[in-house]
Amino acid sequence: MNTPADALPLTCDVLVIGAGPAGSACANMLAREGLHVLLADQHAFPRDKVCGDGLIPDAHAALKRLGVLDEVMNHAQPAHHVGCIGPRGGRVDVPGTLAVLPRRILDDILCRAAVRAGAVLLPPARFEATIEENGLVVGARLKIGDAAHEIRAPWVVLATGAVPQAMLAAGLCDRRTPSGIALRGYVKNPAMVGRIKALEVVWHKKLRPGYGWIFPCTEGVFNIGVGIVHSHKVDKSGHGAMQDTNLRDVFKAFTEFYEPARQLMAGGEIVGEIKGAPLRCTLEGARYSKPGLLATGEAVGSTYSFTGEGIGKAMETGILAAEALLQGRRQQQAEAQVRSGYEAKLLALKPRFDLYERANRVNAHPWLADLLIWRAKKSERLLRRMSGVLNETSNPGHLVTLKGLTRLFTE
Ligand SMILES: Cc1cc2nc3c(=O)[nH]c(=O)nc-3n(C[C@H](O)[C@H](O)[C@H](O)COP(=O)(O)OP(=O)(O)OC[C@H]3O[C@@H](n4cnc5c(N)ncnc54)[C@H](O)[C@@H]3O)c2cc1C
Repeated sequence: MNTPADALPLTCDVLVIGAGPAGSACANMLAREGLHVLLADQHAFPRDKVCGDGLIPDAHAALKRLGVLDEVMNHAQPAHHVGCIGPRGGRVDVPGTLAVLPRRILDDILCRAAVRAGAVLLPPARFEATIEENGLVVGARLKIGDAAHEIRAPWVVLATGAVPQAMLAAGLCDRRTPSGIALRGYVKNPAMVGRIKALEVVWHKKLRPGYGWIFPCTEGVFNIGVGIVHSHKVDKSGHGAMQDTNLRDVFKAFTEFYEPARQLMAGGEIVGEIKGAPLRCTLEGARYSKPGLLATGEAVGSTYSFTGEGIGKAMETGILAAEALLQGRRQQQAEAQVRSGYEAKLLALKPRFDLYERANRVNAHPWLADLLIWRAKKSERLLRRMSGVLNETSNPGHLVTLKGLTRLFTE
C-alpha cells in the first residue's frame, strides 16, 4: 500500500504526520470527504507500539465512527469489566464495553482504513522540521530512506505520540519530560484463560505511585505491565529528571506479590521483549497548534492520567482536528479561526482529563483504592457512578470538584 519512491507527491491538502490512532483517524475523516491527504510515519506498517492494548468505551465509540469497530472486534478479545483490585486484595468489577487487541494489529487496521478512505501512505518517512514562511507552516521536511523530501500543504497535522522530538522540532513542546512511564510484556499461558477475564488493574504500595495490570488478549496471551505517574521531577524550564524508580523492579514486584500475576508468569512463556515507553497526559505539556499546523493525540497529552488509557482519546482528538479542518474549508474560515475552533474542542474535553488527574491520588495513596472498593461493594449507586465515568455516560464536571470526589468515597 506504499507509494513507489520515484513517485512521491510534492503537495497535498493536508499532510498528517504519525500513523498511530490519532493520525490515522484524522487522515481517515479528511480523506473520506475527498481531501488529498498524505499520511507519513517513520515506521513501515504493521509496526508494534508499547501499550497495554486495552480498548475502553471511548475507543469503541471512535472505532465505530471510523467504520472499523466490527473489523477490530473480529480480532480482539472482548471483555465486560474492569477489575479494580486494592492493596488488601479487595476487588470490584466495574461494567463497561471493553476489549483488548495488540497495537500491531489495531494500528494496522486503522492505517489501512485511512488508505481505503483515500489517504496516501508514504513509504517510511521521518518528520524532521516544518517549512515556514512568514510565520505560517506551509509544509514539512521529511527524511525518506537517506533522502530529504519536502512536501507542501496548507495544513500539517502532527500526531507523533508521546516521544517529544517531533513536537520539539515544530516548536510546540512546552515540557520535554513525560507525565509517566509504563512497561509491558506479553505472556502466553493458556491455563490462565477463564481465570483472568476482566481488564485487571491493581493498586499496591509496592507499585506506588502507579498501578499494575493484566489484560487478556486472544489465544491464551496476556498483556501484563506496570505504570508510574509523575515519573519525572520537572523544573520551571520544563526540563526534568527521572524519579528514583526502576520500572523493571516494580514489574518484578508486581509479578511476585499479585498472585494471578505470579501464576501467569510461573506457568507462562514470555513472548517478545518486555518494553517501556513514555506517557503524556491531561492535555498538558504542549501547545495545540501554530499557524498552519494542528497537533493532536498523545503529542498534546491526550492520554488519561491514573490508568494511562489513551487510544480512544487519541482517535477522538484526531477526529476533532479533521472536523475543524473540514469545517474551516466548508465555511471558508480564516486560518486562525480553524485553530481556535479546534483548541476550543480540545479544551471542552479537559474536565474528563482533570477527573483522571485527580484520581491519581489513588496511585500515590493506594489505601484509597481499598476504601473505594469497599464502598463500591456496598453501594450499587457508587458502582453505577464508576461505570458512568468509565463509559463516559456521566458528567465529569460533577466529579471534578473536591465535593464530587468526596461523594465517591462517602456516598
Ligand atoms: C506501556 C503503555 C501502556 C498503555 N496502555 C494503554 C491501554 O491499555 N489502553 C489505552 O487506551 N492506552 C494505553 N496507553 C496509551 C496509548 O499507547 C497512547 O495513548 C496512544 O498510543 C496515543 O496514540 P497516538 O496516535 O497519539 O500516538 P502513537 O500511538 O504513539 O502514534 C504516533 C505515531 O507517530 C510516529 N512518529 C513519531 N515521531 C515521528 C516522526 N518524527 N516522523 C514520523 N513519524 C513519527 C510513530 O512512529 C507512531 O506511529 C499505554 C501506553 C503505554 C506506554
